[in-house]
Amino acid sequence: MRSGNAGTGVRRWPLSARLLILSSLVTILGFSAVCGSVMLDMRRGEEALARQTSENLATTIDADIGRTVELYDLSLRAVVSGMMTPEIGQLSKEMRQLILFDHAASASHFGAIQVFDAQGDLIVDAASLDPVKQNSADEDFFKVHRDDGERGLFISRPMLHQGAYSVVLSRRITDSDGNFAGVVVGSIRFSYFHDLFGRLRLNPDDNITVIRRDGVVIMRTPFDLDVIGMDLSKTPGVMRVLARANGSYSGVGVVDKIERLYVWRDSNRPLLVIVGRPWAGIYSLWQRQALRIGGIMLALVCFITAVTLFLAREIGRRARAEDKLEELATTDALTGLRNRRKFDTAIELEWRRAIRQSRPLALLLIDADHFKIFNDTFGHQPGDQALIAIAGCIASSACRAGDCAARYGGEEFAVLLPGVSAEDALKVAETIRRKVEELPAEPATLTVSIGVASLTPLVTMEWSGLVEAADKALYAAKAAGRNQSMVATAPYLLMAA
Ligand code: GH3
Ligand code: MG
Ligand code: MG
Repeated sequence: MRSGNAGTGVRRWPLSARLLILSSLVTILGFSAVCGSVMLDMRRGEEALARQTSENLATTIDADIGRTVELYDLSLRAVVSGMMTPEIGQLSKEMRQLILFDHAASASHFGAIQVFDAQGDLIVDAASLDPVKQNSADEDFFKVHRDDGERGLFISRPMLHQGAYSVVLSRRITDSDGNFAGVVVGSIRFSYFHDLFGRLRLNPDDNITVIRRDGVVIMRTPFDLDVIGMDLSKTPGVMRVLARANGSYSGVGVVDKIERLYVWRDSNRPLLVIVGRPWAGIYSLWQRQALRIGGIMLALVCFITAVTLFLAREIGRRARAEDKLEELATTDALTGLRNRRKFDTAIELEWRRAIRQSRPLALLLIDADHFKIFNDTFGHQPGDQALIAIAGCIASSACRAGDCAARYGGEEFAVLLPGVSAEDALKVAETIRRKVEELPAEPATLTVSIGVASLTPLVTMEWSGLVEAADKALYAAKAAGRNQSMVATAPYLLMAA
């Protein structure tokens, strides 16, 4: 008679199960948010660390190269000022060598310093007292100083010089009248850079590039002769490097097309150092950690989801079992109507509600007529079937929400009709009575007598009064000849009050 969730086919989770699912969902989302933010922080940390180490590396290399160039330039300056001293020409070759060239300039990685006159002819060579005939008038390092008196130190493109790949450093000699009198030339061999970079521990895809201020590549590690001397001044990355003193940018390698973080330091020296580290390398550790943490998180989420669904199903199953038990405990086994226990609870509840809402509450008490004779004549089994048939008539007539049809005991039934006046309750009673009367006369015609009572209760009243009134009306219906409905009249209701 009661429609439960199990019967409707659509199973809705009970509130506790839905709360469990919600709390699990919130927990999973919360954990994911915390994990995500920690991983993002770690990623930012890796990037900051890479930037910092690259900056430090660039600074160190820049300082080393700068110091080397500066020291070598000091030697060149000493030769220039020596050559501008007129007395130097009167000295013996040995004395001149001793005065012009200090020992610093003869260190390994440095080429021998040479002096060329205004026509480009070699006149003094640190490596020999009698220099071989040689003319450098066509070389860049000569022409630059011949054409530009203000040039200062000139660093050439990487070139073969004195039989070794080097960068040539040169300075102009100016005579007392301010005219071009030749150049002093020295060189730093590639071996210096190889030695410098060889001392560093770099990853395979890391690179360090040394460029001249016009964007020409002086040196690069990993060493690649094709890149050395290349003019990168038009590439966006190098344009950015030349525009700002310090900084970093993300760009693709000119040669290997690898995406890198490039960091550079510029200390206003003639050469610039750019350190490039591939993003893949920077994030490799982070990626491994992120994968591990992500994997653990995924497993945890799966576990929590599985446990939550299992528990939610269990809760649902238990709730349905409880509903079923409750239904069994409140249902009359023979007729399927509510039992007496449920009726007592229901009338208590509806009575208080009727008081609160000042609405009437109607009660029908229904009793099968001469049922003892029916039982005695046809037996207990047909008697039971007759009771089931009567219950069916009652259930189909009192089926509004809030109506409560119950087996009151033996062959007696009770129907609670909240909000129904005596007049309307009588109509319901008559419907039931007629339905029973019209039941197939198998094995005999059945009839019922019905006592009807309805009142709007006051706070001072007890519901037992309503039952008593309906009982009196039922008694009256029996006394009046049975198979009829009788409404409780004022005296009974007064008694009920
Ligand atoms: P009245 O018209 O005055 O109500 O007469 P009655 O015979 O119906 O009244 P009475 O109270 O004397 O008899 C009730 C009978 O109902 C007694 C019993 O045999 C029968 N009865 C009560 N419960 C059941 C039941 O569960 N099954 C069957 N088959 N009979 C029942
Ligand atoms: Mg009876
Ligand atoms: Mg009876």
